[in-house]
Order: sequence, then C-alpha cells, then structure tokens
Amino acid sequence: MDGQFEGCSDLMDDTVDTCYAQTLPIFQKIEYLSNKVQNIRKDHTLLSNEVKGLGVDCLLGSEAFTALQKLSKEHELLKNTYHEECEVLKKKYLEECSERKRFYNEVIELKGNIRVFCRCKPLKQDEIANGSTSVVDFDSSRENELQIVCLDSSKKQFKFDHVFRPEDDQEAVFVQTMPIVTSVLDGYNVCILAYGQTGTGKTYTMEGTPENRGVNYRTLEELFRASNERRSIMTFEISVSMLEVYNEKIKDLLVENSNQPAAKLEIKQSFEGTQEVPGLVEARVYSTDEVWELLKSGSQVRSVGFTNANEFSSRSHCLLRVTVVAENLVTGQRTKSHLWLVDLAGSERVGRIEVEGERLKESQFINKSLSALGDVISALASKASHIPFRNSKLTHILQSSLGRDCKTLMFVQISPNLADLGETLCSLNFASRVRRVEHGPARKQTDHAEILKYRQLAEKAKHEEKEMKKLQDSLKSAQLRLAARELTCRSLQEKVHDLENQLADERKTRLKRECRALAYVSTQSSALPFLSQEEKKKPPLAPAKLRLPLRRITNFMPLQSPFPPKKKGQSNLRVVDKDKENASRILGNKAKAIFVPRPGSIASATSQAFQQKRRASIATLLLESNSKMTTPLQGSTARLSNNHGMGRQTFVWLYGESNTYRP
Ligand code: ADP
Ligand code: MG
Repeated sequence: MDGQFEGCSDLMDDTVDTCYAQTLPIFQKIEYLSNKVQNIRKDHTLLSNEVKGLGVDCLLGSEAFTALQKLSKEHELLKNTYHEECEVLKKKYLEECSERKRFYNEVIELKGNIRVFCRCKPLKQDEIANGSTSVVDFDSSRENELQIVCLDSSKKQFKFDHVFRPEDDQEAVFVQTMPIVTSVLDGYNVCILAYGQTGTGKTYTMEGTPENRGVNYRTLEELFRASNERRSIMTFEISVSMLEVYNEKIKDLLVENSNQPAAKLEIKQSFEGTQEVPGLVEARVYSTDEVWELLKSGSQVRSVGFTNANEFSSRSHCLLRVTVVAENLVTGQRTKSHLWLVDLAGSERVGRIEVEGERLKESQFINKSLSALGDVISALASKASHIPFRNSKLTHILQSSLGRDCKTLMFVQISPNLADLGETLCSLNFASRVRRVEHGPARKQTDHAEILKYRQLAEKAKHEEKEMKKLQDSLKSAQLRLAARELTCRSLQEKVHDLENQLADERKTRLKRECRALAYVSTQSSALPFLSQEEKKKPPLAPAKLRLPLRRITNFMPLQSPFPPKKKGQSNLRVVDKDKENASRILGNKAKAIFVPRPGSIASATSQAFQQKRRASIATLLLESNSKMTTPLQGSTARLSNNHGMGRQTFVWLYGESNTYRP
C-alpha cells in the first residue's frame, strides 16, 4: 500500500518541478505545498475509507474479538459477584457488630451492672516517718480480697470486684475501668464514682496529676482512640460539661467569666424523660489536649474548705459529664449517651473532724447526699419498685445514668493508716453493702423477691379460679331455679286457660238460668196479688248481653273476698279465703256500695224473696264446682262485681237462699 502512494507522490513531484521552473520561487513554493496538502488529504480520505471498511465486521469471528467478549462477560460476572459479596459482608459485619455489643454488654452484666473496686493508697513519706503503720493486709492468693487488722488484732475481711493495692498505678486502674467506660460509645449510660474519706485519693484516681493522669483523662483519650478506630462506620461527637454540687446547689465549672453572678441551675426532665440541667455549658472537644485544659480550669473553680483531715479537702461533689452522640453510617441509627465521672466529697463523719458553722453545714449536706446515694444504689440493686432519686441533688442529676441498662462503677478509696481505721471500716462497710446487694447473698434476696412475687401471683390466680367456680355453681343453680319457675309458670298458664274455659261455660249456663228466672218472675208477678200495679208494670231486667262485660281473667291472683266467712248452715258454699275480714275493712263503704243490689236487677226485684246474700270468690266457686254442692249458682241469680281500686279482680255472686229461690 505504501508503495502505491509512494509512486503517486513521485508522479506529482515531477509535475510540480516542471511548474516550479516556470513561476517565481515563493509562489512556486506555495503552490507546491498546497498541492502537497491536497495530496495528503486525498491520502487521508483513502486511508480512513480503508479503516472504515475494516470495522467490527472485520473483527467478528476473529480470535481477538471472541477473547474480548469473553473477557467482558467475565468482568461483568466478577463485578456482580463482588457486589453481592460486598452486601453479604456488610450484613455479616453489622450482625457481628450487634453480637459483639450484646456479648460485651452481657459480660459486663455478668460481672455486675453495679461494680465496686477498692483502692488503697500508699502511706505517705511523712506518715511513715511518724511511725504510722498499715492496717490493711493483702493476700497474694486472693486478689479481690483485703483484710483490715482491727485494734484488738482481729481481722475483718472484705471482698470486691477488684482490689487495687498501694503499688498499683493509674494504668492498672484504668485497664480494669476501660471496658465499662467504652460502653458509652455503644449507647449506654455510664456512671463512675469515687467514694471515700478525704485524703484517700478520690481526686487522684479520677483526675490524677500531669505525670499520672487519672480515669477522667484516660477515659477521654480512650474514647477518642476508639471513635477514630470505628470512624469508617460510625461518627462520634464528644462534648464535655463540668459541674459541682455544693450544699445542694449546682455550680457550672466551665462558665468562662466567673466574676459575674452565676445563673441558678436546676434539674429538669427533658422530653425524652432524661434529667438535664438547662443552661449548663457543654464544650465540644476534639482532642485530649483540649480536654486536659478544660479539666484543669474546671478543677480550679471547685469549692474547697479547710478541715483538720485535709487542708484543701474537697467539700463538694465534682461531676464531669461526657456526652457522646453516635451515628451509624450504615444503618443511620443515632444514639446519645452520657458518661458521668464523679469525684465525691469526703465521706468522713461530722464528729470525726472538729467543724462548726459553715463547715458543719457543708458536712451535713455531704452526709445527707452520700446516704441518699447509698439508698439509691441499694434500691437499684434490690430492684425495688421505688428508687429514691429525688432525695438529693446528686442522685437526682444522675438519675438517667444509674440503674436499668446503665453501668455503675464505684471506687471505694481507703487509707492504710491506723489513724484512719474508723473511717476506713465505715467506707468498706458502705461499699460492701452496695456490692453485696448486687452479687452476694443479697442478690439471692433479689431472686427471692422475684419468687415471692410469682408465688403471690399464683396464689391470686388460684383464688380467682375458686371464685370463678363458685360463680359458675351459683349460675347453674340460678338456671335450674329459672327452669323450675318457667315450668310452674307454664302449668299456671294452663290452669288459667282451663279456668277461662270453665268461666265461659258458667256464663252460658248463667245466661240460660237468668232467662228462665226472668220468665219465672214475669209469670209470678201476674200471680202475686199483693204487688202494686206500678210494681207489676216495672220493666224486666235487661238481657245479660247488654250488661257490662266481665273483665278478662288474668294471671293475677284474685283479691281475697272482703266478707267474713259464713257461719255453719248459713250457706252451702265453703269459703276458703282467709283474709276476708281484712279485705272488708279495707274496702269499707265501697264494698257496701258494691254489694247494694242494682235497681231493677233480679236481686233488687226479689229482695224480699231472696233473704240471704252469699258472696264467694271465684276461686271458691270453682274449687267446689265438682263437690256435692255442685251447683252453687243453682237457684240463684248471681251478680259479678270487681274491685278496680285494688288492681285485682274479685268476683262476687249475690244469690238467694237455695230454699227460698229454686227455679
Ligand atoms: P481526696 O480527693 O480523696 O481528698 P486526693 O486525691 O487529694 O484525696 O489525695 C490526697 C493525696 O494523696 C494526694 O497528694 C495524692 O497525690 C496522694 N495519693 C492518693 N492516692 C495515691 C496513690 N494511689 N498513689 C500515690 N499517691 C496518692
Ligand atoms: Mg479530692
């Protein structure tokens, strides 16, 4: 191909040379170059067409193309596998993280959520020079125990979660403390307190010295280190507040201008239910150097007093609060937790140090708040239903960081000096009380309390079961009674029905008899010469159909007949109603009015003829309807009356003597 173009350019060069000889040198040169450019363009077009002709089709089926395709497929496959594996790993990692957190928490819980470490400070040079002796014995085989040699040479043994000897340095102390403090990064609230007599090393343990830094500084150092380690998946914001509780008043130790009167700080419950101090300075910290500066300035503002026990002993509780806001970058979960590092005021009793006035008041406040702290910890450990947090400012402010899921660690600081024996024993007894309720026999007490609670619940359930059975029995008997009553009611209804039928029959019979009586009276009146003409002209009694209808018989018991029972021989009707006299009394004149014969009635017309009037209740009448005197109405004209006022029906038949009137 190159040869072909080379030939072409040679040909052109000859043409150019002939032209070149005829024109001026510069124009000749231009012309020559433009021709050359044109030639190059042509070459380019030819070449590009040739390349275009080659295209992908050219490569199709070639080995290189197949290899390329295979490679790209493999690449895609690898990419997908990589993504999938990444997802699986991410999931596994998150699971591992939560597992680690759970196990870590479990380990701490197994060790006890409330833990007590004892730290014994070394005897000072001047104390040794004074000939002071140590009363604390450590058994090398039992590293968590110590013995106190009392004045009578007897030994008292104490056991804690860890015992630090005088030779143990700050590093050794922090190694044991670290697992608890780092819980704050996992979202747990943590509280570490240093308790003990003034001068036993509370401030030394918590703050330390520039050469031997204490728990506070080391904790923040560890938090920065751990947060840095986890920064690929978590972000942490760490801020610090420092305050003191002095004579039940809260003082902010990080307020910059201390010349101005400090704003009154109060404990308030936040929206989330945690205890907050509105207005408290919260300084965001990024490095341990910043922290050290803050701690130094805060400690300088702290209230101190003079006592015989320690010239500059702290008479207030100093609280350092570390707030950690963590965000998980994978899940987006955010947590906010607090770590309290508390250097408590001296626990010595008021009588031990000769104090008066303001110092006495301070001591009383200190004693009150420390005993409140002891009460809260024992209540928490024994899982009491009420935890007396509000008994002091100290316990109230620590409320959200004591108990439940929170981790609590107490350092009990002691002095080995014989002169401090009394206070040492007091501190050890207090700390043992706190520890015992969580781990020792008192823990069993907690279990006992649980068992007792369940036993009570079981007894209550048993009692409720019994009550239920009783109720079921009474329900059954009530149902039986109801069934019996229904039966009685049904039989009564049947009886009533029968009575209604009988009454209808009686009515028919009576109607017939009345008709006959009417016929008889009319025949007799013509036969009675002693009757006046007018009397004879009296119209006959209206037909029974036109009279007032009898009332419906209901299920109500008929009213007792108001009339006294008839004397023997007076009537062939046996009256069984018991309270007739009473009824008569009740009805009084009304009854009389009722029983006055209606003018024009058969009774009235035959008043002379019917000598005696007989009243009987329908009950009686019906009862005797089948007796020997089966026809009580035989030979009588009856009149039915009822007592509306009593709300019950009483039927009264007025009839003449059977021997007087016999139709
Ligand atoms: P507290 O705060 O309980 O009143 P301090 O922390 O002020 O006691 O300690 C009193 C003195 O004892 C300080 O000078 C401190 O350096 C020293 N001290 C306390 N504990 C130790 C220890 N374990 N090792 C060395 N010195 C200590
Ligand atoms: Mg101190």
